[in-house]
Amino acid sequence: MLSRLTDLFGVLPGFCFYDDYDGPNAFATTATRLRRADGTVLYGKRHFLNHMASPESPEVVVTATCAHEFGHIVQYKYKLTKQLTDGQATAKRAELNADFFAGYFAGARKLQKPDYPAAVFAATDMIAATSSPTARITVRRTSGPRLWSVGSKWRIGSAAALPTPSRSE
Ligand SMILES: [Zn+2]
Repeated sequence: MLSRLTDLFGVLPGFCFYDDYDGPNAFATTATRLRRADGTVLYGKRHFLNHMASPESPEVVVTATCAHEFGHIVQYKYKLTKQLTDGQATAKRAELNADFFAGYFAGARKLQKPDYPAAVFAATDMIAATSSPTARITVRRTSGPRLWSVGSKWRIGSAAALPTPSRSE
């Protein structure tokens, strides 16, 4: 799953678990560990165990979380963070953008594997720090990964900068 994220997003961060004793969490950092150039994704052990206890497709909940964090790595690698956070009081836009990348990944998987439970991504609360009822990803089912949108009014444009996912593995 991590190699699929690396292939689709063109990033190669380090990945490790950490002790999230102070509250279940996962995050991405520009800090390089494990000699990977694109930062590091850290997944709290408690957060991971909570996700693995999810009643529906726990492995997809884990994937959704990793995809969101890889989305932050994409932001760091392509220097999108300033653009996303300038003039913003919160990190919400950066979080929604990471969700957008996660949605793009789910859409790509769905194209490759039509029974992939992509909707689980939408149900996974990946933006705990900025949670808002309007911040959930909703899936427009009409044309694959390009029409993921957030909330009812904030539509994110096409993923023109990203490669079109291939239908075959
Ligand atoms: Zn995030």
